[in-house]
Amino acid sequence: MIENLTALRDSLTGDVLAPSDPEYERSRLCFNLLIDRRPAAIARCANPGDVAAALAFAQEHDLEIAVRGGGHNPAGHCVVDDGLVVDLSRMRRVEVDLDARLAHSEGGATWLDFDAATQARGLVTPGGVVGSTGVAGLALGGGIGHLTAQYGFTCDNLVAAELVTPAGEVILANEEETPELLWGLRGGGGNFGVATRLTFRLHPLSTVVGGRLDYTGDAVRKALRTFRDVDAEADDDLTCQAQLEVDEALTPALIVAPCYTGSDEDPEELRLLRSAPGLVSDEVRRHAFLDQQRVFDPGYGVDRNYWKSHFVRELPDELIDLLIDRMGALRPPGAILIESLRGASQRIAPDSAALGYRGAAFNISAMASWTDPALDDEHIAWTRDTAAAIEPWAVSGGYANYMQADEPLDRVRAAYGPESFDRLQALKRRYDPTNVLHRNQNIPPR
Ligand SMILES: Cc1cc2nc3c(=O)[nH]c(=O)nc-3n(C[C@H](O)[C@H](O)[C@H](O)COP(=O)(O)OP(=O)(O)OC[C@H]3O[C@@H](n4cnc5c(N)ncnc54)[C@H](O)[C@@H]3O)c2cc1C
Repeated sequence: MIENLTALRDSLTGDVLAPSDPEYERSRLCFNLLIDRRPAAIARCANPGDVAAALAFAQEHDLEIAVRGGGHNPAGHCVVDDGLVVDLSRMRRVEVDLDARLAHSEGGATWLDFDAATQARGLVTPGGVVGSTGVAGLALGGGIGHLTAQYGFTCDNLVAAELVTPAGEVILANEEETPELLWGLRGGGGNFGVATRLTFRLHPLSTVVGGRLDYTGDAVRKALRTFRDVDAEADDDLTCQAQLEVDEALTPALIVAPCYTGSDEDPEELRLLRSAPGLVSDEVRRHAFLDQQRVFDPGYGVDRNYWKSHFVRELPDELIDLLIDRMGALRPPGAILIESLRGASQRIAPDSAALGYRGAAFNISAMASWTDPALDDEHIAWTRDTAAAIEPWAVSGGYANYMQADEPLDRVRAAYGPESFDRLQALKRRYDPTNVLHRNQNIPPR
């Protein structure tokens, strides 16, 4: 434990929370209640200078470092026992440059902050589907959402970033001066420095035809096949996500969340989805993009979570049957999320980003969530067994943004592929040679 935080407090414009501070308990919480850690201190930074000072203080005092953006990583990487949290929650400004069609986002902004600022100008970057998720954490690990088919992964829209390295240097990643670093930031996570400002390309968009369609009962199997077929044939103006659930009686349920940005008020793809069997609720309509971003909003820090995902090449009937069977073995709530990766995200030059496997059709994730700690083992086992059952269709080691902390290094390597992982390790050696930033989906220096 640190005896005296005065030096840290004196060196920051922001503030420092110790265990005795009233705000400490709330600030150490993250999205996943399975994570219950007590840091020695939380440095709530206000600018890049604060981040450099916090990183220096931690290294001087031999404190493990965790970096916190939106606090959503299911692995709980944003909080560390007895260490120092570099908390960016006070750095949430988002500026829109209309002429350049760019958004500059501070390192602690959430998607709610980002979308509010950009939508006020009728512009958008493809982000995550939950407003309280951090922009930086999501973008640095990839970024799948309601606009993946239209504009690619979030990281494909990242054009520059300001980073504070563990050595305290403030550096810029961009195409002109540091293309290799920019490549690494597009998927390689928070391994190379703390991002204090991220710049994204913007696209004009105000309203979409979207919302959710709910199906229940045995017909869910057919409805999921329809979802798959519609997705396969759709143009880039439709992104579709699907979520399998079960109710207390273990009756299967399916939510399909389309997001259509074309000009047709009644697109054929949506008519096909509506005609699938088992439909019990249809809330798809033209609405503001900000409303689309609320379709999946869960509560923050209310349950325990354990997730595992795979990028898969296809979703054949056999795999659909398997997913429905696995839902029968789940104690609700919990879900299997099926995110489409089709469209613009597949046509990005493969060498433009560390995030790989652009040929994948879907990201399929087993997501257990529960509240009773006595059920931890049961839910973790369900997730592991479900992910193992999906593995024969997998094309990668999974989506880094949904990984738990117990993933072995081999699976992190497999998430990128050996060639990209080697490049990432070389970058790590250059920017963080002693692996100071290791509470993440870690890429150890080569
Ligand atoms: C409810 C929920 C919904 C989600 N929805 C989506 C979704 O729609 N699409 C999707 O792709 N993913 C989604 N995710 C996953 C999410 O992208 C990752 O969990 C991501 O890491 C969260 O970032 P964060 O900043 O909120 O998390 P944090 O836990 O604060 O940070 C996670 C890690 O990201 C890194 N990091 C964060 N900020 C910075 C920074 N400024 N500089 C350097 N490194 C940083 C650090 O390594 C940190 O440990 C969701 C997660 C949850 C819990």
